[in-house]
Amino acid sequence: MSFTLAIVGRPNVGKSTLFNRLVGRRLALVDDQPGVTRDLREGEAKIADLRFTVIDTAGLEDATDDSLQGRMRRLTERAVEMADACLFVIDARVGVTAVDEIFAEILRRKSATVILAANKCEGRAAEAGLLEAYALGLGEPVRLSAEHGEGMMDLYTLLKPMVTDAEERVTETAPETDVDVDEDDPDAGPRVPTWEKPLQVAVVGRPNAGKSTLVNKLLGEERLLTGPEAGITRDAISVRLDWDGLPVRIFDTAGMRKKAKVQEKLEKLSVSDGLRAVKFAEVVVVLLDAAIPFEQQDLRIADLAEREGRAVVIAVNKWDAEADKNEKIQMLREECERLLPQLRGVPLVTVSAKTGRGLDRLRDAILGAHDVWNRRVTTSKLNQWLGAMIEAHPPPAPGGRRIKLRYMTQAKTRPPGFVVMCSNPKEMSEAYSRYLVNGLRVDFDMPGTPIRLWMRSQS
Ligand code: GDP
Ligand code: GDP
Repeated sequence: MSFTLAIVGRPNVGKSTLFNRLVGRRLALVDDQPGVTRDLREGEAKIADLRFTVIDTAGLEDATDDSLQGRMRRLTERAVEMADACLFVIDARVGVTAVDEIFAEILRRKSATVILAANKCEGRAAEAGLLEAYALGLGEPVRLSAEHGEGMMDLYTLLKPMVTDAEERVTETAPETDVDVDEDDPDAGPRVPTWEKPLQVAVVGRPNAGKSTLVNKLLGEERLLTGPEAGITRDAISVRLDWDGLPVRIFDTAGMRKKAKVQEKLEKLSVSDGLRAVKFAEVVVVLLDAAIPFEQQDLRIADLAEREGRAVVIAVNKWDAEADKNEKIQMLREECERLLPQLRGVPLVTVSAKTGRGLDRLRDAILGAHDVWNRRVTTSKLNQWLGAMIEAHPPPAPGGRRIKLRYMTQAKTRPPGFVVMCSNPKEMSEAYSRYLVNGLRVDFDMPGTPIRLWMRSQS
């Protein structure tokens, strides 16, 4: 079965335009088939060498009845169920509306794998809406202009691993978990920013890194509140823990697969499980095997976690089996900084899932990373800091006109994101932005967390 992407979102954001661009003439009307509702269009999409199925939910605009919202909801839910992933489209010119938020909520409830897309991004009018998009908590939006065909390569980059994984999943033997998920259970969705929510942690890593052993050990040590419950996704199991009164939910991406006795292609499967788990998590624990640390797969998932804006902790497992621990830790720290510069200062802890050593430190690192990820810096402190940074190192002056940095504020947390108002944002150099990000990291003590920085003009 080929990979299926559902395009969802409120009317008028550009779903049909995007669908048409992706499908071109290769359109198969689902409408003609008996028993299939008329609202969903399906087509064979193509971006460069990628081929996949795309479902369009735009038909609902034709609905003029008063139950538009209900129809919208049902249609979206059905599309989500049919699809491997959803492209959730918002209109960057309009920003995030209340209706967009309803859609985001549906996707959360359904535990869909979501790619957030901000459409109509051509030109400048889109910047404000883009910023708002982060607040949906669905990660970094991909910028599209369906009408002008912009952003297709970014979409390609995001979809490529998903499509490849789906294609390689020759036999989908994992059973559907047939467990009732309470639709009204507020815990059913990921990442809702209140403290009553369990902290969502994903343990990801290559096969045999020791993920299952670790989760079992944590369970054994922390006293289980509820048994392993049916996963939020059909590929993951989550377990609930209580860390000194703080509820924690840990996704074990390995356990379910093992239960399903999927032995073949375990490696590939676990990659896509990992990708999904990253989407659900607030904190991503990348579990390495001390004997073979920082493999390509490990780096890929850490990078994905960064791009998705998750807090990251690196845990090096099987530490009990290491002979020269001092030398090794030195080497690991160096490699970590070298191979993951985008996560400078990321906490690195050594553990033994088998013996339980280091699990208390892992716990502290997870809570610490979550803390940093939630950090808020006051506007007055930021502007004081910005002044000092400019003085130490003035911004570039392209064409002889120095860019003026006027004002700075923190636009969001989880992860921390900052907006700098300046005279000529388009001309700002990467190097200077990096200087500011690195400075923020050091001066406001935000190691290891993704930091976002946007340059905006005042207009
Ligand atoms: P849908 O209801 O979500 O399927 O939205 P449509 O695809 O019908 O598009 C709604 C309106 O937005 C139409 O007038 C499109 O021409 C316009 N539109 C779609 N994509 C873009 C875009 O990338 N930029 C701009 N400026 N307009 C767009
Ligand atoms: P998963 O595929 O990531 O879930 O890995 P498992 O939890 O199934 O562990 C893979 C293998 O590594 C098993 O044989 C475990 O016994 C072993 N293992 C896991 N944790 C440790 C550890 O801390 N030390 C040692 N020496 N072996 C471990």
